[in-house]
Amino acid sequence: MSNIDVRNRGDASARPLCYHCLESYASADADRHTVPVSCEAVCPRCKMMPACYTCRNMYCACEVHQH
Ligand SMILES: [Zn+2]
Ligand SMILES: [Zn+2]
Ligand SMILES: [Zn+2]
Repeated sequence: MSNIDVRNRGDASARPLCYHCLESYASADADRHTVPVSCEAVCPRCKMMPACYTCRNMYCACEVHQH
């Protein structure tokens, strides 16, 4: 019962919802939404956020999270 193939589902509704950008993403884009980017910014809001996160701190000088 432990050998469940999670890739064998072509159902778009099964896509997980990213709580950073509020978009559902395919497994191919999972890195962008789940892997934290250490952007080295002096900004506490986006420091360990994934690449999809857009920082709304107007003083943030981070290149990764500005858009
Ligand atoms: Zn996202
Ligand atoms: Zn950042
Ligand atoms: Zn920031």
